[in-house]
Amino acid sequence: MKQFQQAGIVIFVISLLLFSVLPFIGSYKLEKETLAASVKTEHLGVMEEVLAPMVGQEFSSNFAFMGEFNRLFGGYNDAMKANQQWDKVIWDNYAFALTKASALGPVSQNPHFYLFITVVFGVVGALMYILPMYRGKPEGIKHDGIFFSSMKSKGLLGILTGTWLILFYIVLYWFPEYLTNLVLMVDPISMALSGNPASQWFLYGFVYTLAIIVMGIRMFRKYRGNAYQTIRTVSVMFFQLAFAFLLPEIMVLMNMPWHDFKNIWPLDYSFFYDYRIDGMVNAGALGMFMLIWGIILIVLGVPIFTYFFGKRWYCSWVCGCGGLAETLGDPYRQLSDKSVKAWKIERYLIHGVLVFAILMTGLTIANYFTEFALLGQATNQLHSIYGFAIGSAFAGVVGTGFYPLMGNRVWCRFGCPLAAYLGIVQRFKSRFRITTNGGQCISCGNCSTYCEMGIDVRWYAQRGQNIVRSSCVGCGVCSAVCPRGVLKLENADEEGRINEKPILIGNNSITLNA
Ligand code: SF4
Ligand code: SF4
Repeated sequence: MKQFQQAGIVIFVISLLLFSVLPFIGSYKLEKETLAASVKTEHLGVMEEVLAPMVGQEFSSNFAFMGEFNRLFGGYNDAMKANQQWDKVIWDNYAFALTKASALGPVSQNPHFYLFITVVFGVVGALMYILPMYRGKPEGIKHDGIFFSSMKSKGLLGILTGTWLILFYIVLYWFPEYLTNLVLMVDPISMALSGNPASQWFLYGFVYTLAIIVMGIRMFRKYRGNAYQTIRTVSVMFFQLAFAFLLPEIMVLMNMPWHDFKNIWPLDYSFFYDYRIDGMVNAGALGMFMLIWGIILIVLGVPIFTYFFGKRWYCSWVCGCGGLAETLGDPYRQLSDKSVKAWKIERYLIHGVLVFAILMTGLTIANYFTEFALLGQATNQLHSIYGFAIGSAFAGVVGTGFYPLMGNRVWCRFGCPLAAYLGIVQRFKSRFRITTNGGQCISCGNCSTYCEMGIDVRWYAQRGQNIVRSSCVGCGVCSAVCPRGVLKLENADEEGRINEKPILIGNNSITLNA
């Protein structure tokens, strides 16, 4: 079986390498027709003139193609800006559309083949490794040797994986024109689902969903015998596949706006942006439903569900970010920082992002209803800052790229404004708590080690105190790894939920009256 798994790893690594070099193969040639098909009519005349030197010329790589494009197009815009001819500056970014449309390489000729040797091969290799895992071993958590693993303990493999993820996110968010071959490769799937060619976001959603499904299967193997972990994993796989990936594409096919029904403001920070509201208002009854549903989730869904079940109902069962963290990120959960200092930073950061999101949204809505008389286009600047710093850099690059370096919940713990909102409700008005049968605790520290949110669970267990923390996402892993059955995730009466037992003797503590 070992050889079979090793073969799986080899296949996976080869396909990952192919996936990584694919963006750099093939040549590029801009034709007049391509330009006409990819550029807005009002820009066509200028673009034809500006890009004339490169039309019909074949470039041997996307670097050469983009170098020439940036020289010509950037040169034009710079000249207009220098002359203060702001109305002539072209703000639209055509780099991705033109690079994709100009690709001549083998991927555009045969996308199915390249999809097969990268993605399908990669999935097969990963499953060959995952499916035989823990075969013949008893049920229960297997964390043997985790701190000796280069991949799971910030060794060379972990650093390389983190670097790859960080680079992928940077290119995806800010230089998608260099990923056009990968996007071309998934074009047939996008065409089949929505009737539209793929964008870099379709590629991202596709890879993201596959990662959750494949690593979700790994969760089934690793947490075999634990019903809570199994059902929770099925839930995140389902919500990602059905609600975040398939349904929005099908809606586009039906000429409706792309919409993820389970994404809630302020995580879905653009929900109240003017173009989103206009899109929903102008999309008939279903569009109005999207708007009302989104508002109901914010105003009623979050407080009610969190009151009854804690924030786990969203963070560990529904959310896409949580879904990736709980599946792809599971091997790295022990890397979260448990220090009090990290807890302090966490509280400042996450609530700071929540305040930023609320202020930005408040100003956006006020501006919208005053027909932009209040702040003009200034809210766009605010959106750009938030989108760059929080939506892309924090949630994407740091949130996922740093899995192998800082643990799997960096974004959920330090940055997600929705987690902050859910956490406030969970801390002050919820039936959820983790109860501790403290007299049984042997202080092994497994619970704290594997808490992905950096909660020092053992500190509470040793004192027989319930764990009531705004950051707890109710993943249940602390309870699963406890060798003494000390911890139990419960929804019960609010009374006695927060209990302080300063000195523990057996299961009944004593309190000192000073
Ligand atoms: S305290 Fe337990 S349930 Fe909560 S996040 Fe940590 S490991 Fe998960
Ligand atoms: S894992 Fe269980 S026994 Fe070990 S410190 Fe935590 S609560 Fe105590």
